[in-house]
Amino acid sequence: MTHRVAIVGAGPSGFYAADGLLRGRPDLRIDIIDRLPTPYGLVRAGVAPDHQGTKAVVRQFDKLLDQPDLRFAGNLDIGGDLSWEELVAAYDAVIVATGMVIDRKLGIPGEDLPHVWGSWRFVAWLNGHPDFRGGPDLSAVKSVAVIGNGNVALDVARLLAKTPDEMAKSDIVPEAAAAIAAAPLTDIQVIGRRGAEHASFTNNELAEMGRLARAISVADASVLDAVAPAADPTPEKLRKAKNIETLKGFAAHRPGEKPVTVHFRFHETPKAIRAGEVDLSTGPIAADLVVTCIGYTGEAFPKADGVFAVGWARRGPSGTIPTNRADSHAVAKDVIAWLEDHDPKSGPDILPLAVDAEGWRRIDKAEVAAGTAQGRPRLKLVDRQALLDIAQGD
Ligand code: NAP
Repeated sequence: MTHRVAIVGAGPSGFYAADGLLRGRPDLRIDIIDRLPTPYGLVRAGVAPDHQGTKAVVRQFDKLLDQPDLRFAGNLDIGGDLSWEELVAAYDAVIVATGMVIDRKLGIPGEDLPHVWGSWRFVAWLNGHPDFRGGPDLSAVKSVAVIGNGNVALDVARLLAKTPDEMAKSDIVPEAAAAIAAAPLTDIQVIGRRGAEHASFTNNELAEMGRLARAISVADASVLDAVAPAADPTPEKLRKAKNIETLKGFAAHRPGEKPVTVHFRFHETPKAIRAGEVDLSTGPIAADLVVTCIGYTGEAFPKADGVFAVGWARRGPSGTIPTNRADSHAVAKDVIAWLEDHDPKSGPDILPLAVDAEGWRRIDKAEVAAGTAQGRPRLKLVDRQALLDIAQGD
């Protein structure tokens, strides 16, 4: 008899945990569970649809799904369909890789108005997450305020700013692509509450904002005096210095040089939101749509013996996919050490396999075939029942 490990959450952290476990204990039986009928978590629902290079990481995870002792159990909600207690009782160890999927709040008046969207909800919509169907009404949206200075803010600004041609090889859902293309957009304001030297943009993502077909990026004059903090570790200092150079380049641009202007505004704290505008520290700006990109929180899970968290569920919502690989591998070593001290449990297999790896492969094949017909990487199925029907071979 061998140990059985359940991994809850089939995103990158979950798959990297499985990879780490199998490197140390190839004999383990691993079940990787997701509440969606599809695996890959943020790679499918969060990574921007025009960044297909980043999504290529799933090829490694596809290979793991070929392993005979690793099962995928999709469309299974732990905490709903099956309780955490049942899971913990049945498995020798449980790894929580549920990420963080709740938009943080600004805590200012007007935040609950219908034109205010959290970035998770917004990005999940245009990525075809079945629980986030229906996006904002963009038909009269001229000005957008994007609040936050991280890569998610850049994703949102870029996806709104790109032309249909620039999105042609993406897997954005057609409804979102059409809504963005038809919006009478002229201005996108990317708002940071601190200076450019504190923005968490990565260099390539910021530089991409300078290469958009229909949008010109401009930056406020504060970037001319920005300096990377001397006390920062060298890699951070280098990243920030490069960003500041890029932003200085943007400061030389003029608003209106292209049909859409992306304004980078620093030292501006949002104070209140009203229909059509946001109050910043220095006064109101027009905003028909507000997207808050200020981080995420997670759902509760039990902190019990034999339960280990990985990725964003463990560290909070920071770090890119490669960061999570190292993190998950380190936790996998802890799990292996824990298992050494515990005999395998005996007991029945409690896992319903509504959508298994074979079911996911059917979905994948159908989506890729539909996408190929349009010159796209895939055309996502966004309806949960349609996903289940295809998974079950209907
Ligand atoms: P992030 O980098 O932590 O950025 C969050 C931003 O929200 C910060 O600028 C923060 O400002 C701001 N903020 C927080 N509370 C605020 C408030 N009350 N008012 C105004 N601003 C507020 O997080 P993220 O952009 O959500 O990204 C999450 C992680 O995913 C990051 O590690 C990111 O690099 C990664 N990611 C990577 C890519 C990519 O590689 N292409 C794409 C997307 C995401 P302060 O700094 O002042 O707190």
